[in-house]
Amino acid sequence: MAVKYVYFFGAGKTEGTAEMKNLLGGKGANLAEMTAIGLPVPAGFTLTTDLCTEFYKNDRSYPEGLEAEVEANLAQLEKAMDKKFGDSANPLLLSVRSGGRVSMPGMMDTVLNLGLNDITVQGLIDQSGDARFAYDSYRRFIQMYSNVVMGINGSVLEHLLEHMKEVRDVELDTDLTADDLKQLVDLFKGKIKETLGRDFPTDPKEQLWGAINAVFGSWMNPRAITYRKLNNIPAEWGTAVNVQAMVFGNMGNDCATGVAFTRNPSTGDNHFFGEFLLNAQGEDVVAGIRTPQPINKAGGDGSLPSLEEVMPDCYQQLMDIQQTLEKHYRDMQDIEFTIEKNKLYMLQTRGGKRTAKAAIKIAVDMVNEGLIDEKEAVLRVAPAQLDQLLHPSLDPKAVKDVIATGLPASPGAAGGEIVFSAEDAEEAKKLGLKVILVRIETSPEDIHGMHAAEGILTARGGMTSHAAVVARGMGKCCVAGCGGIKVDYAAQQFVTSSGEVFKKGDVVTLDGSTGEVMKGSVATVQPELTGDFGLLMTWVDKFRRLKVRTNADTPQDAQVARQFGAEGIGLCRTEHMFFEHDRIMAVREMILSEDVEGRKRALAKILPMQKGDFLGLFREMKGLPVTIRLLDPPLHEFLPHTDKDIEELAAVMKVQPQLLKQKADFLHEFNPMLGHRGCRLGVTFPEIYDMQVQAIMEAACELVKDEGYEIVPEIMIPLVGHVNELKLLRANAIRTVEEVMGRYGIKVEYLIGTMIELPRAALTADEIAQEAEFFSFGTNDLTQTTFGLSRDDAGKFLPYYVNREILGEDPFVVLDQEGVGQLVKIGCEKGRQTRAGIKLGICGEHGGEPNSVIFCHNTGLDYVSCSPYRVPIARLAAAHAALQEK
Ligand code: ADP
Ligand code: MG
Ligand code: MG
Repeated sequence: MAVKYVYFFGAGKTEGTAEMKNLLGGKGANLAEMTAIGLPVPAGFTLTTDLCTEFYKNDRSYPEGLEAEVEANLAQLEKAMDKKFGDSANPLLLSVRSGGRVSMPGMMDTVLNLGLNDITVQGLIDQSGDARFAYDSYRRFIQMYSNVVMGINGSVLEHLLEHMKEVRDVELDTDLTADDLKQLVDLFKGKIKETLGRDFPTDPKEQLWGAINAVFGSWMNPRAITYRKLNNIPAEWGTAVNVQAMVFGNMGNDCATGVAFTRNPSTGDNHFFGEFLLNAQGEDVVAGIRTPQPINKAGGDGSLPSLEEVMPDCYQQLMDIQQTLEKHYRDMQDIEFTIEKNKLYMLQTRGGKRTAKAAIKIAVDMVNEGLIDEKEAVLRVAPAQLDQLLHPSLDPKAVKDVIATGLPASPGAAGGEIVFSAEDAEEAKKLGLKVILVRIETSPEDIHGMHAAEGILTARGGMTSHAAVVARGMGKCCVAGCGGIKVDYAAQQFVTSSGEVFKKGDVVTLDGSTGEVMKGSVATVQPELTGDFGLLMTWVDKFRRLKVRTNADTPQDAQVARQFGAEGIGLCRTEHMFFEHDRIMAVREMILSEDVEGRKRALAKILPMQKGDFLGLFREMKGLPVTIRLLDPPLHEFLPHTDKDIEELAAVMKVQPQLLKQKADFLHEFNPMLGHRGCRLGVTFPEIYDMQVQAIMEAACELVKDEGYEIVPEIMIPLVGHVNELKLLRANAIRTVEEVMGRYGIKVEYLIGTMIELPRAALTADEIAQEAEFFSFGTNDLTQTTFGLSRDDAGKFLPYYVNREILGEDPFVVLDQEGVGQLVKIGCEKGRQTRAGIKLGICGEHGGEPNSVIFCHNTGLDYVSCSPYRVPIARLAAAHAALQEK
């Protein structure tokens, strides 16, 4: 049997259903579905997406028999509408519309009023008794067809229309008369002939095939191709073509066209919401040709009459239909309708796009209304979307003056006076000022300034630059890599690409969700985490298997994370504690000491402070697991930089500044990320790790003994590449642990594990697991070491790779599943081979990125650990992963 390529819908019966989206496209399937449930839909037929595939396979031609199939459907359509296509007395006019599986707004084409020529327009006048309407339709048809099918730039004819309005001294196209429009039609045809050297087609059949070809052809237009790439839509899907009888919203003031949402798409309120225009057609509402009017009184400001007031009967019918549609689809719908002579027609319905806030409210409300269950509600909210809700955001109503745009490195919005150093940020904060810290780039030394600032702006660096990672950890907004500004520390100012100068103390506002930098102060609104959000998250937790921990270094971070639902700390970076001002001197003293004794003296100063940190952290986490990573960064990062620093330190250490400087120069590394860092520090300076382990265990013992806590500290040794490193350091750690427990006279359970962040570690995970009770995949470094990409420098060229599609995404943002992910899988398998119950987690930035979280679930990890502000995103993504598994 021949393949069926055309599906009819109309007069209450249809060949398609809503389930046939893949074949009929979203629009076609829903037109069929609406027809089937008895809604007023103009009849028509859909040419399938399979036909689109055939069309391209056969060098843009159709399989045999298609013409006959279309003819038969056209005949059926004529019968349903009681009109004839191309008839001089009672012409049927058609709309030809594209529509793929998923909507690609504005990417492909629609032609309305097809079938008009100088003869059929007369029929339309006779039928409607309205010459103005007929010529309005005719001129619209010529405009659309010449653009979509014949390829004339839309502005060419638009110009003639504008000119006509000027000459007639009117503002709106509805003010043009029948004669004006008739003249326009002639002008249009002349202009087309002049431009293309051929006539506008008069034969309706030729028009129809021209339009069908053009719609199928539009699947491969550059706009659509780009859009598909950006949204991961396969080219093989193809588009369908919907040929449908026209209904007319432009037949006078008892006609209208409009778009509406069954609920408010920005707040989620269960209020029918939309706009319409009287005496208009097609996308006039969206195109902003005239100011649209609200659907109902509640939706407007009272300045324009609503549909509810102008056409109460149609409004009531529309109200009923929108409720029917919501019940039927069990989701908020985005609908398009037209009213012809007080008769309502439905032209489209689809799931409506909505903000995160609306998505949550609608999902929760629909569960309460019994429309959907909790599982479905959870699946209705996209994890990435939550980000919008977890930070203060710009007041959408505020006016903004954008002066530069960088990377949206950490979401949220904040404004304040600009300062150019961490010290100034701290000082200003003490004075009660709000500041934005502006740096060329940041380093660990700037942390206290970043803490003090409301937001961070850097001229250099990518999405995983120091500024970006730390800011996300703090939940602070950050715009990174803003190349459009030139920062001049000496002059204490930055200059935008347009030459505007911003000095210390000038106010700017950052939007870390868009990367925009704005002049002056722009109003913001606070996030709300209770109510519907809180309720939805309780459902989320019912369905997920993956645990979600947080990366937190301070009790404050830990507290925020717990409020967001973190179930432990997956990564506490101890080095951040070393940068606080009163400690850095001791740290530097330790590094620059000539011998073990000197180092021990310095470490003894740090010990009580580290212990205090861990006490605070353990207390805050109330018995939840806490993984503490021993010192990781290159020593290099702790070195004193300025002469003043060196002199100050020399005084404390009672040595010559010159000697210290030599030592510091000696410690300089060319490639610190691959240098003397991580466990290599522990191997060469065992007393550093000894001190840290001592601090951890003393804190744990004191809490267990004195305060009755249950804690199982997890001691994590970073950057292991060979099992022997871990063997040595584990033995050292155990020695200290035993010593401390002996001293306190109690036993505390503890774990010793490692980070897997070098390819060699993943590949030899079976050996490493002999010495490790847990693995935490440090996917930031693992990405860096697998790709051989420096994440601090990659910002200069990675965006280029992504733009050119050499890489689909920035691998520091979205885990590279094929490469880095493969190493994670290998690490898990080999680790479990040796130690069946080994605890497995991930603590890179990827731990809060939805696709990466789903990967972690599927790979069988026990937990992900991410910045506090991403914890809810990871929880939701983990629930999605679990629910989609079946
Ligand atoms: P999009 O997917 O961009 O919304 P559509 O195919 O829905 O494109 O067409 C755009 C608009 O054209 C519709 O919103 C509707 O106003 C108008 N339109 C489409 N088909 C018809 C029709 N049969 N009768 C009247 N207007 C139509
Ligand atoms: Mg539309
Ligand atoms: Mg539409």
